[in-house]
Amino acid sequence: MGKTTLNSGQEIPILGLGTWQLTGNECTETIKEALKMGYRHIDTADAYENQREIAPALKVSGIKRSELFITSKVNRHNLHYNDFLKTANKILNELDIEYLDLLLIHWPNKDIPVEETLKAMAELKEKGKVKDLGVSNFTESHLEKVLDIYPGLISVNQVEFHPYLYQKRLLNFCQEHDIVLTAYSPLARGMVFEDPRIKNLAEEYKQTPVQLVLKWLMEKGIVVIPKASSAVHLKDNLEVLNQDIPAKALEVLDTFNENKRLIDPSFSEF
Ligand code: NAP
Repeated sequence: MGKTTLNSGQEIPILGLGTWQLTGNECTETIKEALKMGYRHIDTADAYENQREIAPALKVSGIKRSELFITSKVNRHNLHYNDFLKTANKILNELDIEYLDLLLIHWPNKDIPVEETLKAMAELKEKGKVKDLGVSNFTESHLEKVLDIYPGLISVNQVEFHPYLYQKRLLNFCQEHDIVLTAYSPLARGMVFEDPRIKNLAEEYKQTPVQLVLKWLMEKGIVVIPKASSAVHLKDNLEVLNQDIPAKALEVLDTFNENKRLIDPSFSEF
C-alpha cells in the first residue's frame, strides 16, 4: 500500500475506505472484506453513527493495530473544550481502540472559538489518544487562523475534491504549509461514472473511469478515501494503486473543473 508521510512523521496510506452511509451489518461486512483485500486505512466520523459496526471488523481481522490507520471526526456541535474531549473518548470506546491515528474537526463552527478546540486536540495528542490531528472542510482563511494559533498542530485537511471541484489554490496552500490534503467524495459520489467525457477518455487510454479519477488525485499528492460497498468496487479502487496512467490522460481531467460542490458548506464560516 502506497503511503505518504505526515508532518508528525507518521505515514498515512494514500488510499482509504470512506464509510459515510455504510451502516449496520453491511458496514461490518464491507470493512471485513476491505481489510482482507489489503485496505489498511478506514475513514469514519462520529456523525456517521457506524463506529460500533466498524469495531468488530477491526477486531476479527487479526491485523496488528500498528498496521491500521483509523481516522474519525468530531462534529461541529461538539467543538467546545469539554465536548471535544468527551466525544473523542466516545469515539475510542465505540471503535474499541486505544488511540486514533487521525482525529479531525469535521466542520468549522464560527460560534465556538477554535482556540478551545485546538487546546483539547493538543491534549489528546499529548496523552497518546491520537497520533495526528487535522481538520475537514477548512478554507484557506480557516487554516491561516489555525496555523497562527497553533503552528504545526494539524497535518491534514480533508475536503471535497474531484474533477468538478478542482481546488487548486487550496491544494497549493496546504502543500506549502506541510498539510496533506485528503479528497472526500473523490468519485463525485458516482457522477464520474455518468460523464461521457470521462468514459471516452478511459476508452482512449484503455483505463477505467475510476482508475483515471483516483490516479489524477493521487498523482497530485492527494490522499483518497472513496466509499465502496461491493467487493467489485472495493477491488477496482484498490487496484488503482498498481496502475500507471499516462500523464497526458490525467492532464485532461485538469480542465473539467466547474467549482461544483456536492456538499454545501454555507453554514460553516468562522
Ligand atoms: P465517493 O467516494 O465519491 O462515491 C461513492 C459512490 O461511488 C458510491 O455510490 C459507490 O458505490 C460508488 N463507487 C465506488 N467505487 C466504485 C467503482 N469502482 N465503480 C463504480 N462505482 C463506485 O463519495 P462519498 O461517499 O461522498 O465520499 C467518500 C468518503 O469521504 C465518505 O464515505 C466519507 O468517509 C468521506 N466524506 C467526508 C466528508 C467530510 O465532511 N469530511 C463529506 C463527505 C464524505 P457502492 O457503494 O455501490 O460501492
